[in-house]
Amino acid sequence: MERNVSSLGIVLHSQRYGQLNRKLTLLSVDFGIIDVVSYGARKSLKAVKAEVLADGQFFLYYNPVKKEYTLKDLKVLDDHEVLRSDLMQTYRALFFCEMMMKTNGGDSQKAYALLSKALDLLASLPDQANQVLIQFVHQMSELLGLRPDYRICPVCERPYEKDEIISFSSSLGSPCCKDCASLDSPLLLLPGMRRYLVLTADLRFEDAVLVQLNPAAGARIKSYMLRYALLLCGGYLKTLSDGLLVSS
Ligand SMILES: [Zn+2]
Repeated sequence: MERNVSSLGIVLHSQRYGQLNRKLTLLSVDFGIIDVVSYGARKSLKAVKAEVLADGQFFLYYNPVKKEYTLKDLKVLDDHEVLRSDLMQTYRALFFCEMMMKTNGGDSQKAYALLSKALDLLASLPDQANQVLIQFVHQMSELLGLRPDYRICPVCERPYEKDEIISFSSSLGSPCCKDCASLDSPLLLLPGMRRYLVLTADLRFEDAVLVQLNPAAGARIKSYMLRYALLLCGGYLKTLSDGLLVSS
């Protein structure tokens, strides 16, 4: 009945589990987002080290009676230690992980590829950290099948004017024209921001993060995308609750 299985994955979250163990939340290619118990992880030197953000091949044991995955071994591809040693980089990376958990990531193969790429870009391009953040949310909306069409109002289907400022429909969870917007819409998209989102929508992640943004535009788009991320995640993200990522 018991079986050994393995999958590529990334540790999204880790918490104490009993006196000596840890329970990991793992984004795995083959089983989606699962809980994995790492026995003895808190004390034993011999226990498998699987820290948050670790990307690798996870060797698991599945108990179908208890419906429980246990960590047996891990072949680390990248531990992303460089991200965990910097506070702001840790915040950004944990924001990615939290978004994955809150949205269940969609297709697990694509979710893994996106998160793996996002963590690698964050680590290799620390000066482009805000672009990585913006593009991660942009890519997540695509992964979830919710990416807005930034060219046409989805309600009245009128193409936007070149210099039109776009509002937001809270009920639809999407940008829309001013006439179709909800009264409480807090999200305004200026023409330059919209051009940037349209342009980068067709680029690969690693190319999109290299598109130049002046600091003021970058700050506005980041603020917009983080609030959009909150909406995608049902209104609350722990990693955004203290405002550190918005102001950095
Ligand atoms: Zn409209």
